[in-house]
Amino acid sequence: MNTINHYAVFGSPISHSKSPRIHQLFAMQTHQNLDYIAQEVTANNFISTVENFFKKGGVGLNCTVPLKELAWQFANKKTERAEFAKAVNTLALQSDGTILGDNTDGIGLVNDLVFNHDIELKNKRILILGAGGATRGILSPLLEQQPDYLIVANRSVEKAAALAIEFNNKFTSCSFDALSGEKFDLIFNATSASLNDELPPLPPNLLTENGICYDLAYGNLPTAFVRWGTSQNARKSLDGLGMLVEQAAEAFKLWRGIQPNTKSVIELLNSER
Ligand code: NDP
Repeated sequence: MNTINHYAVFGSPISHSKSPRIHQLFAMQTHQNLDYIAQEVTANNFISTVENFFKKGGVGLNCTVPLKELAWQFANKKTERAEFAKAVNTLALQSDGTILGDNTDGIGLVNDLVFNHDIELKNKRILILGAGGATRGILSPLLEQQPDYLIVANRSVEKAAALAIEFNNKFTSCSFDALSGEKFDLIFNATSASLNDELPPLPPNLLTENGICYDLAYGNLPTAFVRWGTSQNARKSLDGLGMLVEQAAEAFKLWRGIQPNTKSVIELLNSER
């Protein structure tokens, strides 16, 4: 019998999540029998809820803000990219009953930039705002694209400094204040400020002439950072919907062994905004 497999995304806040819709579209497209729900889970109840999920027959889970570092601790085994990031956004039940942790955020972001938006990263000056789980996931894939240099700025500057040491100083860290006078070709907002329609305190004139802004957060309306990018005359000011679909496709591939088509799903979700 073709039994239904259960998947979910845990996080807080989670009501805005488009992940259930994306996985439902992937499942329809590839004729997979599965359901996928979004559940509000905080750091305090993460362990008990995740244990219960797998005990009750769940086979795959996504973890988002603020759970990625906890999910990394929870996984019995990790893929190389998740091990390196020390953050996990995808958990998969294995045939021996263990839980594998993966991080598909970085490849999702790079696929969106390169294949959906034709954006080159080589020799570019890159700024990442934020030093949480999402930044951990995207750092290595961005560095692999050989930017000219990469800076991570964070509100808690000591967190960014610790991350730089962990990554063998392959990038530099600083506070938001210290960005004054710097210029970047690409600015990624990997803070969770947009979830509250807030903006990190950024000095003006950070973008080069053809500079691009990319908010990892997404929403039906332009996020605070996307609006900021537009006000700074960015050539493109994008949100993270494409990344979301691309990272979901990588998780789907891990769970179901099938690569879904992302372009049609991105087009559909954009038309629904
Ligand atoms: P975390 O909770 O792990 O980290 C949050 C980060 O945001 C920290 O660096 C924190 O700084 C900073 N921050 C929070 N509020 C503010 C503020 N008001 N001003 C300045 N900095 C702030 O979250 P994640 O890293 O997991 O996620 C970050 C964002 O990326 C979220 O919006 C999430 O939705 C998005 N995301 C999108 C994905 C996609 O597929 N499109 C995938 C992954 C993430 P401090 O250290 O000082 O507290």
